[in-house]
Amino acid sequence: MEDILQTERVKFQRYADLLAEWNSRIDLTSVPAEETWTRHFADSLQLLNFADFSEKSVIDVGSGAGFPGVPLKIAEPSISLTLLDATAKRTDFLRALCKELGIDVTIIHGRAEDCAKPADSAGLRESFDFALSRAVAKLNVLSEIILPFVKVGGMVLLHKGERADEELRSAAEIISALGAEPERVQRYEYGNIIVLRKLRPTPVKYPRSWKKINA
Ligand code: SAM
Repeated sequence: MEDILQTERVKFQRYADLLAEWNSRIDLTSVPAEETWTRHFADSLQLLNFADFSEKSVIDVGSGAGFPGVPLKIAEPSISLTLLDATAKRTDFLRALCKELGIDVTIIHGRAEDCAKPADSAGLRESFDFALSRAVAKLNVLSEIILPFVKVGGMVLLHKGERADEELRSAAEIISALGAEPERVQRYEYGNIIVLRKLRPTPVKYPRSWKKINA
């Protein structure tokens, strides 16, 4: 991981500079600028220990300022990456960032529970090898808005905090109803990575409305 941060240090430095510049005007991250390389870049790159992403399609749900998707794309340029976020100022930043870094990424401003519906014309449902998400929602809610994007056989990789096992227990029923099962929970320096494997198509009634998911 240190190797990648070194090899691609020009891109990562430009990313850190742009993030600091935009963050002084709009709320993108509460992580202090001096911790960007550890708590954003190295943290995102942890996912390289869990799968081979080369030539794979990947969606980052609730990407915010691009984490974990953009560092992964810098490390593995053959990824076909889609960044999805519900907040326009964040997708504006992502567009400016990807243009500046010269990386080819699909950026969508929208809510996951709308974009993953079977009727959505963008055709995002069950079309990704991997779906990622960090700091978006508790697992019982997140599962419903992320698993519909993944192909059968694909994986969901989630950065989670100290309570990953507890979250997994509360979400076990809905994960199974959505067609998946937990494959692995792995501790690392900043928390845990949860890995889910999609085994069956997600029933068309999911995802439900945000209100119902949170009821
Ligand atoms: N993943 C980034 C990170 O770890 O730095 C951003 C985390 S930020 C706390 C949560 C992000 O998720 C916000 O940018 C928010 O707009 C987005 N978000 C929350 N709910 C969402 C939903 N239902 N669909 C799409 N984006 C959502």
